[in-house]
Amino acid sequence: MTYAVDIEYCLNDFSLPVSTRQTGIHIAGRDLQIPTHERKGEALSQIQKIVIVGGGQAGGRAALAARTTDPSADISLISQEPSAPYERPFLSKAMLLDDATKLPFVFDEATAEAQDIRLHLGISVTKIDRVAKEVLLEDGESIAYDKLILATGSRLRRISVGRDDEDCVHYLRTIDDCARLRGHLTKGKRLAVIGGGFIGLEVAATAQKLGCTVTIIETGETLLPRIGSPTVSRYVQNYHSDKGVRFLFGVQALAMDGENLKLSDGTSVPTDMILVGIGVDPETSLAEAAGLAVENGITTDSFGRTSDTDIFAIGDAVNQMNPEYNRHMRLESWENANIQGDAVGKSAAGKLTEVSMIPWFWSDQGGLNIQILGQLDAEKPCVERTGEHDGLTLIQLADNKIKGAVTINQARDMPLLRRMIADPNFRCDETTFGDETVPLRKIMKSARH
Ligand SMILES: Cc1cc2nc3c(=O)[nH]c(=O)nc-3n(C[C@H](O)[C@H](O)[C@H](O)COP(=O)(O)OP(=O)(O)OC[C@H]3O[C@@H](n4cnc5c(N)ncnc54)[C@H](O)[C@@H]3O)c2cc1C
Repeated sequence: MTYAVDIEYCLNDFSLPVSTRQTGIHIAGRDLQIPTHERKGEALSQIQKIVIVGGGQAGGRAALAARTTDPSADISLISQEPSAPYERPFLSKAMLLDDATKLPFVFDEATAEAQDIRLHLGISVTKIDRVAKEVLLEDGESIAYDKLILATGSRLRRISVGRDDEDCVHYLRTIDDCARLRGHLTKGKRLAVIGGGFIGLEVAATAQKLGCTVTIIETGETLLPRIGSPTVSRYVQNYHSDKGVRFLFGVQALAMDGENLKLSDGTSVPTDMILVGIGVDPETSLAEAAGLAVENGITTDSFGRTSDTDIFAIGDAVNQMNPEYNRHMRLESWENANIQGDAVGKSAAGKLTEVSMIPWFWSDQGGLNIQILGQLDAEKPCVERTGEHDGLTLIQLADNKIKGAVTINQARDMPLLRRMIADPNFRCDETTFGDETVPLRKIMKSARH
């Protein structure tokens, strides 16, 4: 079951001193002075200061939720990136294919102004001082907090191939990365993608559509092993191969030699550019330096509280207790960033909200839409249901309950599967699921116990 439960309570210690008040949007190199809304009739000492470090999707959502929960809070959001919070999934899909695609903001600067959310853009937080309850910025400024939310996201894993010029070696995390890569993906160019994960496959599909020749180099023996379904791995590989993408498995990219990328098996791939997509690590350096508990991400309880209860953490950076599975989980996904951002924004503003989540993730790769729900065990079988236009739905059961499911070009099954997996009374056996003549909707309605 996925839920966010609000518990009304008071988190505030209003006796704390008020920080130096700055107003408006502060962008490194430019400073837009926008007057803070007057908070009439409210003593400054009663206004709680919420500071969010990291202006990605989770941080942006937290700022909006905090504002809705506490209309008078003093909210600051600090981000290394120069733009207001935006959604990243477009960067490897629509925006890479067509540079006229609009950047989807979580909120733009005008909304920040209207919502009285103070943006500090293009600047890093370098330290958290938990005793003084303030964060230090790289320009020497400090901002005090009553509640701090860490939304620092992920750090790209990087490799060295002996060349680091930006025309040749690309990574994809930010809008700037996307624009740079887009400029090079022209017809006839040869792209080597290092890593056969989601980002690599999405970029490969886009590049292939733009007329590039694409080779994917993967150290493992199969694609997307973490989904836990050999059927999905095969399906995805066949799709891309049919489009002309070439796969090299069980080899490592070593170094560029002129226009050739040398591989660990002694062969080489002629290439004009490389996209490195070998995963990310949680960005925990601030939290670690501040002495917060960190293990595979910043450790939090199910309310997003770190080992310091005045500091919350959300998004890719976090290993959160998930009551649904009764264990900690670190999820790198759009939905996780939204759910945790919304809940922790409320919590920090005084409305403690618990998160319990069944993971859901999607990936669009050219003509493939893949959606993954729950958790599949690669060692266990799945029921397979085929759909129109080569669509496929996989369902894995344990004790007649759904544990995980994948749809490929069968998106309409996913809302039903989400309802079934979340329903504690739902039970159904493999034979019933395996009968493709019975629609999933009918199974959903008849199989509650
Ligand atoms: C190209 C791409 C495609 C994706 N596609 C999908 C998809 O199809 N489906 C899906 O479910 N998910 C997808 N994702 C994953 C999803 O976008 C992430 O899970 C989500 O963005 C995580 O949000 P976040 O706020 O935790 O982190 P981020 O969005 O990474 O934001 C973190 C922010 O914190 C800033 N920051 C870090 N440290 C500091 C500091 N010390 N001071 C100030 N600022 C700091 C960073 O610069 C960054 O702006 C994709 C991601 C990428 C990159």
